[in-house]
Amino acid sequence: MQLVKRGTQFALAMSGIAKATWGTTFQHVKRLYTAVVRPRTQYAAIVWHRPGDNSSPAQTQIKALTTVQRQAMKTMIGTFRTASTQTLQNETQTTPVHLSLENQILKSFTRMQTAPPTHPISRWLNRARQCQAASATLPTTFPSNLEYLIKRYPQYSNPDTPIEIIRPHIVPPWWEKPFSIHIDDSKEEAIKRHQEKTAQDATNTSLISVYTDGSEIENEVGAAAYSPSTSTIVHYHLGNGKYANVFAAELVAIKLAMTIFDRSPNHDALTAYVDSQSALRALCAPGRQSGQYILAEILAAMEGIRGTSPTSTLQLEWVPSHMGIQGNEAADAEAKKAARDKLRHMQLPLHKLKAAQVTEINRHTTQSSRAQWIARRTSMPRGNKAGIQIYGELTRKQATTLARLRTGHCGLNSYLHRFNIIEDPACDCGHKFETVQHYLLDCKNYKAPRDKLRMKVGCRNMRLQKLLGSTRYIKHMLQYVEETGRFNPQPEEHR
Ligand SMILES: [Zn+2]
Repeated sequence: MQLVKRGTQFALAMSGIAKATWGTTFQHVKRLYTAVVRPRTQYAAIVWHRPGDNSSPAQTQIKALTTVQRQAMKTMIGTFRTASTQTLQNETQTTPVHLSLENQILKSFTRMQTAPPTHPISRWLNRARQCQAASATLPTTFPSNLEYLIKRYPQYSNPDTPIEIIRPHIVPPWWEKPFSIHIDDSKEEAIKRHQEKTAQDATNTSLISVYTDGSEIENEVGAAAYSPSTSTIVHYHLGNGKYANVFAAELVAIKLAMTIFDRSPNHDALTAYVDSQSALRALCAPGRQSGQYILAEILAAMEGIRGTSPTSTLQLEWVPSHMGIQGNEAADAEAKKAARDKLRHMQLPLHKLKAAQVTEINRHTTQSSRAQWIARRTSMPRGNKAGIQIYGELTRKQATTLARLRTGHCGLNSYLHRFNIIEDPACDCGHKFETVQHYLLDCKNYKAPRDKLRMKVGCRNMRLQKLLGSTRYIKHMLQYVEETGRFNPQPEEHR
C-alpha cells in the first residue's frame, strides 16, 4: 500500500534526522515534523482517508501514520521506546494522527465548497449531495468519500447557510480604485490628521463623514456605521462566530457607510473613518480571500454611486481604535449593540465565511486533542503544561533528561527493573526502589546537591510537580541532575 510505503520512508528519514541532529532543539524538530513531514505524509488525505471510519483501511492508515509520528515525537524529546504513544503525545503536545487527518480533510472539504459553480469540484459536490439525500431512502453500498463527509459532518457542509463562493478574481487587472484612501504610519499621525481633517470638513455642507466599526461580543458579530453629519446609525448583525468574524464585520461596516451616503441625496463627498487597516488593505487589492463577497458588495455600491453621480468623491481614512476619537468610540458601541441585539437594518446576501468555518474546525481539533490529553493522562499529574511551554527553552540534552524524568522512563533502577533489564530495583543507598521521587527528593547519596537545590527553589517547592512542571524550577532541577552525575553518561536506549 502506497501510504504505508510513504509513511515508512518518512519514519526512516526522521530517525536519520534524530541521529544527525543531536544538537537540534525541541522546537526545531517539532516544526520540522509539523511543517514538512506531516503535510507530506498526509498529502491529499481527502482522497484516501475517511475520518472517524472504523473500517480497516482507515484504521490501517492511522496506524501507519502513527508509527511515523511516534518516531518524530521520540526525536523531539529523546525518550525511551517504552514510553507510550499517548505519553509522547501529551509531552510534546502533538495532535493525534486521527485528529490531524480529520482537521486537514475538513479544511479541504471547506475549500471545495467555496469553489465557483462552474468548477468541476462543485459538480462533484452537488452530485454527492444528491446521492447522499437519495441514500436516506435507498441505501447505497459504496458511498463516495464526499458523500461520507456530507453525512458525517453536516455542520461543515452547510445545508442551511451556504458557504461563501471565492472566485479567482473579482476585479480585472486594469482595475482602478473607485475611491481614494489614506493610511498613516503611526497612531499619532493619524490622530493629528483626523483632527485637522474634521475641523476643515466642518464647513463643507456637501460632505458626509461616517465612522465604521465591526465587533464581536458574546460570540455574536455585529457591524455599524455612524454619521455625525446626518446623525444616522445603521446596524448589521452578521450572525454568530461560526458564520462570521470581526474582519468581515469591518468590511460590512464600510458597506453600511456607502448605504448612508446613498441615502443622503444632497451630498457629493464621503469620508469614511475606518479603524481596520486589514479591511482597508483588502479593499485596495481585492484578492482570493475569505470575505471576498463583501468586498465585491462594497465595490458594487461604490460603482453604483459613481454611476449615478460621477462627480462624487469617496475617501477612506484609517483612524486608530480605542484612542478616544469620539466618532470611532460611538461606532464601536453601536457595532456591539448590533451584535448583542441582533439588529439588521439592511439587506445583504448572507454567507457563512470560509475563515469562520476554518476557525471552527481548528477549535474542534484543539478541543478534541486536549480532551484526549486529559482523559488519558498516563504520566503523573503536574498541571497542564507540556510541549513548547516546558521544552521550548531547553537544550536538547536538557530536554531529554527532563522528558525521561517526567515520564519515569529513565535510567533509574526501578524503571530498568520494571522492563526486565536489571534484577534489582533498589538504589545504591540501600533504599528498596530507586524511583524518580526517591532520586530527586530522598536519596541520601545526593544530600549536598539537594541542599543546594532547596536553597534555590525554597522548601515548599521541593515537590515533583514543581521541579518537573514549572519552568522556574526546571533549570535548578537540571543543575541538580548534573551535579549528582547519576545519568553520566546519558544512558542509551536499552534493547
Ligand atoms: Zn538512594
